[in-house]
Amino acid sequence: MPKKSALPELTVSSRGAARLKNGHVWVYRSDIGRSDGIAPGSLVAVADPKGKPLGTALYSTASQIAVRMLSPGSVEDFTDLLKDRIRRAVAYRERVVRDTDAYRVVFGEGDFLPGLIVDRYNDILSLQILTQAMDADGVRGTVISSLQENFSPASIVERVDTRVRELEQLPPRDSAVIEGTKSSTIFTMNEVRFQYSALEGQKTGAFLDQRENYAVAEQYAHGEALDVFCYQGGFALHLARRCPHVTGVDSSRPALEVADQNAALNAREIDWIEGNAFDLLKDYSAAGRQYDTIVVDPPAFAKSRKNLETAMRGYKELNLRALKMLRAEGTLVTCSCSYHVSQADFLAMLSQAAIDAHRTVRVLELRGQAKDHPVLLNVPETAYLKAAIVYVSG
Ligand code: SAH
Repeated sequence: MPKKSALPELTVSSRGAARLKNGHVWVYRSDIGRSDGIAPGSLVAVADPKGKPLGTALYSTASQIAVRMLSPGSVEDFTDLLKDRIRRAVAYRERVVRDTDAYRVVFGEGDFLPGLIVDRYNDILSLQILTQAMDADGVRGTVISSLQENFSPASIVERVDTRVRELEQLPPRDSAVIEGTKSSTIFTMNEVRFQYSALEGQKTGAFLDQRENYAVAEQYAHGEALDVFCYQGGFALHLARRCPHVTGVDSSRPALEVADQNAALNAREIDWIEGNAFDLLKDYSAAGRQYDTIVVDPPAFAKSRKNLETAMRGYKELNLRALKMLRAEGTLVTCSCSYHVSQADFLAMLSQAAIDAHRTVRVLELRGQAKDHPVLLNVPETAYLKAAIVYVSG
């Protein structure tokens, strides 16, 4: 006889249940029933309002996303499940990741491991924990030992997002090397080499989600190139393999210092300019500067739906100026990493920018994040990066 689950039970509203039946994995706090007494980060047995079991989830007492589903069935042993899912995440990368020793090993919900991010940079693994459940000591221990078994890394580093920990009501923690001692290395993607310092830089260090787009952008690049929002030079270094002259622009001096080390590592000469991209594009376009290839890869302007309109104005201004500055037969690589900007919104913005810039634009490729950041079809939040590669014919 199946034994009754010993887990705390949590009832979700009919709206929450409908969401899960449609394949989503989150239930918001407004869609859950009584939860008093359920400890932060607990495994819970989820049921619909009629008591029908919907599966097993991780519970957060703090986040608006109260429930993150783990399985539509029961979970006998959470430790085994964690190890198995990490193994499967590793096996998936063996199938889809090429030409790099730097990639995302675990992409949270996309790998059925909500709240856990792991990136590999050659021999260093970088871990990010985003929920109460993943922060529990036992869970951390299992994750770390699984990663050691699968990779034998020189070290494992934890990158802390202070704001996420506050939102999850987790005690503050510092980013640190948590296993081993090595904190910097060199990684390679598409045969381009990059310096990696585990405790510096934005995100977990590099923008791995653009790796496949770098290689594709390189194929279309020619002539004089401008990489706007270049960070540590991801696009610029790839473009430099085809373009005789490349300029990278970013407002972060530390990012440009690494970009310059990266250029030296690859024996490239690239001009790095520290400045505000909006001002620089305005000045350059007013001065009549022209390029054959332009990349525009800004930070996420729309952090929430509330500032979507302002964000769209920002994207439009950048793309309008870039389109104006392209020579005929030029290529624009333009990106948005805001989940709240849909691909349709993004293309509508780009169309309007093309009209205002009086340019005729053909679409070469519409792309997204690299395959090591898997998109779950029924969880739209897992798809966030949009990249359009377009050709300006007139
Ligand atoms: N293209 C990069 C990632 C860009 S991330 C890559 O592939 O690695 C966004 C970058 O925009 C960050 O490096 C940040 O420092 C920079 N940034 C943010 N606001 C800016 C501004 N107003 N002007 C110029 N750079 C800015």
